[in-house]
Amino acid sequence: MSKWVYSFGAGKVEGTAEMVGLLGGKGANLAEMAQLGLAVPPGFTLTTAICSHYYQHDRRYPDGLKAEVEAALRRVEDEVGSAFGDPEQPLLLSVRSGAPVSMPGMMDTVLNLGLNDRTVEGLARRSGDARFAYDSYRRFIQMYGDVVLGLDHFLFEDQLEEVKLANGYTLDTEIGAEDLKRLIETYQGIVKDQLGKGFPQDVHEQLWGAIGAVFGSWMTPRAVTYRRLHEIGEDMGTAVSVQAMVFGNLDNKSATGVAFTRDPSTGEKRYYGEFLINAQGEDVVAGIRTPQPLTIAMKAETGGALPAMEEVMPGTYAELVAVFERLEDHYRDMQDIEFTVQSGRLWILQTRRGKRTIQAALRIAVELAEEGVIDRDEAVLRIEPASLEQSLHPMLDPDAPREVIARGLPASPGAVSGQVVFSADEAERLGGMGEAVILVRVETSPEDIHGMHAARGILTSRGGMTSHAAVVARGMGKPCVCAAADLVIDYRQGRFTAGGHTVAKGDLVTIDGSAGAVMLGAVPTVEPQLSGAFDTLMSWADQRRRLKVRTNAETPDDVRTARRFGAEGIGLCRTEHMFFNDERIVAMREMILAGDAEGRRAALAKILPMQRQDFAELFEIMAGLPVTIRLLDPPLHEFLPDAPQEIEAVARATGVEAATVRRRAAELRETNPMLGLRGCRLGVLFPEIYEMQARAIFGAATDVAKAGGRTVVPEIMVPLIATTRELELIKAGIDAIAKEMMAETGVAIAYQVGTMIEVPRAALRAEQIAALAEFFSFGTNDLTQMALGLSRDDSARFMELYLARGIFAADPFSTLDVAGVGALIELACERGRRGRRDLKLGICGEHGGDPATIAFCEQLGLDYVSCSPYRVPIARLAAAQAALRS
Ligand code: PEP
Ligand code: MG
Repeated sequence: MSKWVYSFGAGKVEGTAEMVGLLGGKGANLAEMAQLGLAVPPGFTLTTAICSHYYQHDRRYPDGLKAEVEAALRRVEDEVGSAFGDPEQPLLLSVRSGAPVSMPGMMDTVLNLGLNDRTVEGLARRSGDARFAYDSYRRFIQMYGDVVLGLDHFLFEDQLEEVKLANGYTLDTEIGAEDLKRLIETYQGIVKDQLGKGFPQDVHEQLWGAIGAVFGSWMTPRAVTYRRLHEIGEDMGTAVSVQAMVFGNLDNKSATGVAFTRDPSTGEKRYYGEFLINAQGEDVVAGIRTPQPLTIAMKAETGGALPAMEEVMPGTYAELVAVFERLEDHYRDMQDIEFTVQSGRLWILQTRRGKRTIQAALRIAVELAEEGVIDRDEAVLRIEPASLEQSLHPMLDPDAPREVIARGLPASPGAVSGQVVFSADEAERLGGMGEAVILVRVETSPEDIHGMHAARGILTSRGGMTSHAAVVARGMGKPCVCAAADLVIDYRQGRFTAGGHTVAKGDLVTIDGSAGAVMLGAVPTVEPQLSGAFDTLMSWADQRRRLKVRTNAETPDDVRTARRFGAEGIGLCRTEHMFFNDERIVAMREMILAGDAEGRRAALAKILPMQRQDFAELFEIMAGLPVTIRLLDPPLHEFLPDAPQEIEAVARATGVEAATVRRRAAELRETNPMLGLRGCRLGVLFPEIYEMQARAIFGAATDVAKAGGRTVVPEIMVPLIATTRELELIKAGIDAIAKEMMAETGVAIAYQVGTMIEVPRAALRAEQIAALAEFFSFGTNDLTQMALGLSRDDSARFMELYLARGIFAADPFSTLDVAGVGALIELACERGRRGRRDLKLGICGEHGGDPATIAFCEQLGLDYVSCSPYRVPIARLAAAQAALRS
């Protein structure tokens, strides 16, 4: 017989820490804390198996569940000495969701469950505080109304504001018992008006309503979106934890708070957190009141006027510190703890792995290894490679002038500029069009997730370091400034005022999430300084890595950046990208548009010295590291002139009529340019193009050799090969130029000729192709495009839908389709190695910087991955993790 319910707390623990899949993160965590002997309020967990059953059986619960819940509930009643629904000694419950992986803010919580018109009086008598009892009841009606009954919380909040306004109150705490009593009647009237029946008075009906709401919330659009964004499966399901309530809002010896065992922003080893006296947990997170610091050190640092917990509750603070130590010792990681103090007694409500910035993650992992808590391999495995990107983000240029108009909390690091928008939808709309936007809100909620994703940065006027905006922005790695209290936001007019300035929708601002500053206009930024912890961790990673990491780069700046990030060569120099600037693109267009070989040679003669110079510079920067230069591969649609001024510029440069240029461009225009005259086809048709490039490469290598630079062995890469004969023709051309130039200069240049594998046929014919090619580099952008018959340029339009329908688990242009494209690569490796035993193998499509793809490359035993400069550290770490896991 299945067991559906697991009890915990007050000396009883049925579950274990390992049962995360069944009890959810929260349920397993509660079981584990109870096992550790912490003061966890007693309760029970309904398993994720119920959630799965619920959705498989038309939203019905399994047989026997009710009886199990009732038995577990009786045990809680016995433990706390009160009874559910008892008018004298009412037991109140919290009901929370808990999926096996953390989904912050996505699921719902109901507190104070068990209050009704009769029990509220019992609570008032028992606590000796009618105000507290009525306040709990009105909070419960509001929360239950919102989460379970589906009523808009504004309906209730408006009434609360009205009472405050009518009485001239500014704080919720000023509202007295009588006001609250009337407010409860008003709230109940709202429920009746909206639903046609009154607020449930039967506490068991309340409980099952809340349980149903948690299971129901698994499939709300925002939960579905969150799971899709984080690649979490639907079938995992959520558990529900039901627990006896403890109160942080009972009196002035009561409090509630959140704490981290290390600083979640910097990773520094010191206790960090916030608490509120006489408040419930959601007050801290929602940013309704400004929380007080946990420690005296924190208070001194922020210059706050409010006393620290360490000062006002020294005894309880000491108990808390003992809990911190115990938890870090047990979990061997930084913990994020929720606690409540009820009339001087400390209760631990929750502990979990603390979310942290990447800077903090690096420092914590390195320091835990140095403290001997974990080993270096584990430290390497603890850093999510993709998250490194945020540590590489720009900071404000220290010398740039700026006008700070407001200050807030430094909630998530990095500096960014963008146009101000005031709604998540607007952020999504403009962000989707590629605009840089800063989402400005009083505070954010889970409904804003899509806009937060689309925004470059987030700015709020309320909330603390643990507010929704702060937690979510840190998770996303976006700069965020929270609680910029000087900001007065007017949503209706679409503007805010701060420091005497008015900033309207569309105006540019800059936020610095590391310093908590808001500035007018776009303040210039500079590349970040990488921390010592970053270097240490990367050096540990490099010791474990087998795969080499190269970069896709062609401009000297990008190549230098990549070197700084540890690139061990250039895996892809896209020569056509060297012609994107205004002056050069004219020469490039001249060449493409030339009607005959003579015209092309004239244009190529202009290009040759530029290329030679460029290559020499790359060789110098790479100082002997391998440099793979890909011969020209311009999809014609990206290069043909279109606008009148572009046509004019080519006409001027070539001395022909604009009309002639326009006609020639029209002739060249293709219906399907990605499958048209590009890649090696261009080289086959116009051999003089690749001849010029070969000359530039050998010339540059000769220049570097003559100047006494480190010897380079250029790797010349032919794009878009489908047949052996294509490579044969082009290689012959390259070899001929090499021979000719070496004879001319007397300088011997070693070089290799290889090919990209981008066309499925090339993968299939790898054995024959490898007989000619000294290396393969998988161009997985084109290989994906051609293997799936899916346009690189157009698929974004329906990708969302394809992901939503589960047709693709991830966008195949970001994460390799291992089952399909991966199978082609595997086969090409096998056959290629058959053709040439020491065939060098690499990957240079966008996937080369994707951790999951890198793991696959490790399995295949590729020699290197190549990715854009900013992803080099990600690739280094992912390669180390892949090696450690293999
Ligand atoms: C590729 O196709 O994967 C590749 C690296 O080449 P490009 O993106 O330039 O087509
Ligand atoms: Mg390609």
